[in-house]
Amino acid sequence: MVSSNDLYKQDLAHYLPVFNRLPPVITHGKGALLYDVEGNEYLDLVAGIAVNALGHSHPELIKAQQGQLNKLTHISNAYLNLPQLDLSIKLKELSGLDRVFFSNSGAESIEGAVKIARKYATSNSKGVTIVSAEGGFHGRTYAAIAMGKSAMQEGFGPMPSHFEKVPFNNIEAITQRVEQNPTDIAAIIVEPIQGEGGIKPATKGYLSSLRQLCDEHNIVLIFDEVQTGVGRTGKWFAKDHYNIQPDIITMAKGLGGGVPIGAILCAEKVSLTLDKGDHGTTFGGNPFACATALAVIDIIAKDRLLQHVTTVGSWLIDQLQNIKSPYIKDIRGMGFMIGIEMDRPSRPLLFAFLDSGIMVNATAGNVIRLVPPLITTQEQLSHFIAKFSEILATLTDIPTNS
Ligand SMILES: *Cc1c(COP(=O)(O)O)cnc(C)c1O
Repeated sequence: MVSSNDLYKQDLAHYLPVFNRLPPVITHGKGALLYDVEGNEYLDLVAGIAVNALGHSHPELIKAQQGQLNKLTHISNAYLNLPQLDLSIKLKELSGLDRVFFSNSGAESIEGAVKIARKYATSNSKGVTIVSAEGGFHGRTYAAIAMGKSAMQEGFGPMPSHFEKVPFNNIEAITQRVEQNPTDIAAIIVEPIQGEGGIKPATKGYLSSLRQLCDEHNIVLIFDEVQTGVGRTGKWFAKDHYNIQPDIITMAKGLGGGVPIGAILCAEKVSLTLDKGDHGTTFGGNPFACATALAVIDIIAKDRLLQHVTTVGSWLIDQLQNIKSPYIKDIRGMGFMIGIEMDRPSRPLLFAFLDSGIMVNATAGNVIRLVPPLITTQEQLSHFIAKFSEILATLTDIPTNS
């Protein structure tokens, strides 16, 4: 039998050494369960990092995908394709925004959003500075790393200019920055709930202050909903928890249920400054990806998964809060986007979880991130709670040097 270990040794000789991969080599999945080359089963509470909204090999999704594969996979945006038209209409309806552009990933949606915001600002004789929040994550392209943690920039300079950061959830800091020179700011970009940053929800006051500042000074407000979109938090968009409408939304992760697709949704106002040839993509919005995303959205609606994520998500947060452990520092999140902040680095804990047949994710140093498929059952999450309690019981106090 092949072992995960042998396959890893091969991988080390081939792939760029940029991922510190975890041990199991996964071959297939069913629902919220995954199986590795050695036949082990895992409960998947990562969902390919908030991607597999419907879990793995969902029969209805596969059926829709097969139907599209039998017709058309790709045609280029030189021609209209019907799934793209339907998906544009659907996303406008769900978001309340006016125009749509399709990309293939989160970072690509971010790049497009920055371009749109800068074109709008330039057309309005404004400066081009993009202000982002500390602790935010927007992907790995140049514009995206310019907005992200400085650790991601090291060795890759020079960074594109006119990107600035302010502390997250700090109304005073952003107000001060805007009022100091409002005309040089093209856009403010923020995740309504920081994902990679450790599942940190924005406060309602913070997002409404951003909306107000942007309205006052004709600044484009961008919500990066790459991780929070498509039902992840129990609503189609995290913005719906706050009742705040940004000028641009970026999407990706959950949208294609595992097939790469991203989207930029924008208000008519900002889209009007764009001309033919200003932006483009070869693969973005291809009929296969769009038919897949349409099916993902249809299934979420038909199976009432938003309601499921809302009720089971609050139940899960309650269960976690009921665990009395000195090693848990905080529980945060909404729906199926939950962070458990530990008193210690979270990555070493992933191995104990894997030994218990559970996949969770580690982020922001001390945080265990749960972003399970939206179809994960309460029973499966109960099993996770039991295993987590067992793991907590094996932990000991972190030795202190005092
Ligand atoms: C994952 C993520 C991105 C980047 O998406 P990619 O598809 O990896 O490029 C951007 N923004 C947020 C909020 C994300 O979580």
